[in-house]
Amino acid sequence: MEESQADKRMDKQDFLERARRFSQPFRIDDGAGFQLKDHDPDDTLHLDKTDKDRAQEALTMGVKMLAEFQDLLYAQDRWALLLIFQAMDAAGKDGTIKHVMSGVNPQGCQVNSFKAPSSVDLDHDFLWRSNNALPERGRIGIFNRSYYEETLVVRVHPEILARQTLPPERLTKNIWKERFRDIRNYEEYLSNNGIVVRKFFLNVSKKEQRKRFLERLDRPEKNWKFSANDIKERAFWEDYMEAYTETIRHTASPHAPWYVVPADNKWFTRIAVAAAIIETLDSLHLQYPEVSPEARAQLATARALLEKE
Ligand code: ATP
Ligand code: MG
Repeated sequence: MEESQADKRMDKQDFLERARRFSQPFRIDDGAGFQLKDHDPDDTLHLDKTDKDRAQEALTMGVKMLAEFQDLLYAQDRWALLLIFQAMDAAGKDGTIKHVMSGVNPQGCQVNSFKAPSSVDLDHDFLWRSNNALPERGRIGIFNRSYYEETLVVRVHPEILARQTLPPERLTKNIWKERFRDIRNYEEYLSNNGIVVRKFFLNVSKKEQRKRFLERLDRPEKNWKFSANDIKERAFWEDYMEAYTETIRHTASPHAPWYVVPADNKWFTRIAVAAAIIETLDSLHLQYPEVSPEARAQLATARALLEKE
């Protein structure tokens, strides 16, 4: 019901324009001079809580449009889309992925959650396990955490780097610079191969994280989400913010931009992320494959056969 009303109100072009308005302010194509402190986790682009219903309506529309784009992506079978989600705990990665992708065909979508690497992972180079999980053409791949942990958690905790058994000659003070360059080159390689990379940092404040942790402790149905380790990592907040700043600074590019999305209001995070994905898919000018004259003739023959039955 709500959808058809919303349909009437906004035509497609209008909606695409709005999607750009909701994603552009958070998009970073060039990381030079990037400062996390310039990005307010509580930003809602002047929408307030009373706009929440309209926001929900817009998200419903967005989810529907995403499903249409995904159908085109799948049918055309040329491009792949890789969406990378990074954030501090309780920033809402899981919920955002769940809500934004709720309308898409599960056959066209692959989600990978990257946890601490296994011993097999550690026997390989740092991009190995991600490379094995890339989306096929025509698909949307989602990385819930990613190779970016290699310049985030690994940088914040040097003991993790020590466990990576790199040859000592390769473990120099340039390691982070080298990893940034490797990631930039890798993402350019992906882009050259038709794998479109978009990266999201869900920017939650320390204060809001505290509130969400307390909620997890207060509400029995949320207890399972709480991990004692989350509190330990919270103690490294400033180090993480520095690591994120450096990472975004050195790895934002026009072909693989970061979106630094305000994450203190879940309803807003979802809209901004949906808008960014829509903006990206729209920019690919996706089309259903053209049917050749021969194939069209075959269709006509098939129809004739069926009609004769
Ligand atoms: P949830 O919302 O369920 O808590 P999560 O993504 O936080 O999701 P966890 O199992 O709690 O999942 O945590 C995964 C952990 O794995 C994180 O602490 C992350 O930093 C760590 N991790 C991921 N990739 C790497 C890596 N390459 N090296 C070291 N640690 C990693
Ligand atoms: Mg966790």
